[in-house]
Amino acid sequence: MARLVLKFGGTSVGDISRIQNVARHVKREVDAGHHVAVVVSAMAGKTNELVGWCREASPIHDAREYDAIVASGEQVTAGLLAIALQEMGINARSWQGWQIPIRTDGAHGAARIQEIDAGEIVRRFEAEGQVAVVAGFQGIAPDNRIATLGRGGSDTSAVAIAAAISADRCDIYTDVDGVYTTDPRIEPKARRMAKISFEEMLEMASLGAKVLQVRSVELAMVHKVRTFVRSSFVDPDAPGMGDFDNPPGTLICDEDEIVEQQVVTGIAYSRDEAQISLRRVEDRPGVAAAIFGPLADAGVNVDMIVQNISEQGDATDMTFTVPAGDLQKAITLLEKAKAEMRYDALQSESGLTKVSVIGIGMRSHTGVAATAFKALAARSINIKAITTSEIKISILIDGDYTELAVRALHGVYGLDKA
Ligand code: ADP
Ligand code: ASP
Ligand code: MG
Repeated sequence: MARLVLKFGGTSVGDISRIQNVARHVKREVDAGHHVAVVVSAMAGKTNELVGWCREASPIHDAREYDAIVASGEQVTAGLLAIALQEMGINARSWQGWQIPIRTDGAHGAARIQEIDAGEIVRRFEAEGQVAVVAGFQGIAPDNRIATLGRGGSDTSAVAIAAAISADRCDIYTDVDGVYTTDPRIEPKARRMAKISFEEMLEMASLGAKVLQVRSVELAMVHKVRTFVRSSFVDPDAPGMGDFDNPPGTLICDEDEIVEQQVVTGIAYSRDEAQISLRRVEDRPGVAAAIFGPLADAGVNVDMIVQNISEQGDATDMTFTVPAGDLQKAITLLEKAKAEMRYDALQSESGLTKVSVIGIGMRSHTGVAATAFKALAARSINIKAITTSEIKISILIDGDYTELAVRALHGVYGLDKA
């Protein structure tokens, strides 16, 4: 007998018949004798609708009330799945974050889980084999109010619960059957990976592959949670679906569990990036702090930063990216502080995409970046900014070329070939 966490995303619980299909996946594991906690997302599109209502009610709204509203989607699905399971004769009970409780910090809208008291869930496993159906994406903050974990946060709820109950496995069920070399919706030639290392998955997720929330990968890595990404859109009783050691899907694991390491593992992209350039900024110590301090204080996430060498030694150009949704806020802040920052002009551009090449093998191979630049040049895609780290290269381009760039990079590293 084992303890399992099964998480189902929005499309997997998109309507009642999908929820019934999810119940069959759960039943398979219960029938095999396992203790199961299920984590559910809101039904597909629900969270977007709720977020839209908040914005419509007031563009700048109270984060506590935002949380009260957007957390409701998961509450509905948890109740519905508990009913569907009971209908199949399975002992099941729904749980909202506060009932467990899942305690978070006070950062409403982007809270981090601090502690989970899974005692009662485990007691019910042992006493009556009851299935816990947990509303994902939510917990309770120190102010005793509901807090949500940021978009895609149900993945994090699942891994955190898996860690709290010392689960043998955490299965993230979604609308694709694993982690691919790039988003299979953009590149049909993308291949599913049997395994991917925590480090690479972390980069893929941070750089836009939304198949797992970044924080869930961090937690899985720290707590050594055996995490699989797999599809809910298959017959729950098909052969192999209940395989305990090797379920179908992609295993996120330690680097040394991967035998054949590629130089490049995958390509990720993130749309809706914006770029800001400050022209003729004074070239003196403290300037970067003066510019980026206020942006950080306002919660604007500054990403790629390029500072040119000044020609005459007195002034320089500073270029950086922010999420398009934060562009207006950033411009307002920068214009307000213009006198202090002492720049000549501010220019901005939105509608950009960051494409990234990821692979642990880059640590020991040269020429990976040059290959990317050549592939983009051959398609006349202009590069606006570049950043690199030990295991990734990120390139900023015009958003119109997203698909073209992703496919070009995917092809040039041979990722479409087995
Ligand atoms: P869920 O609602 O189940 O949480 P998400 O929409 O958050 O699902 O994540 C799954 C989606 O992630 C897929 O439909 C796919 O389009 C996208 N995706 C992006 N990059 C990748 C990748 N490298 N591998 C698999 N899926 C990816
Ligand atoms: N429903 C939330 C969202 O759409 C959380 C999740 O699905 O993971 O962001
Ligand atoms: Mg998701």
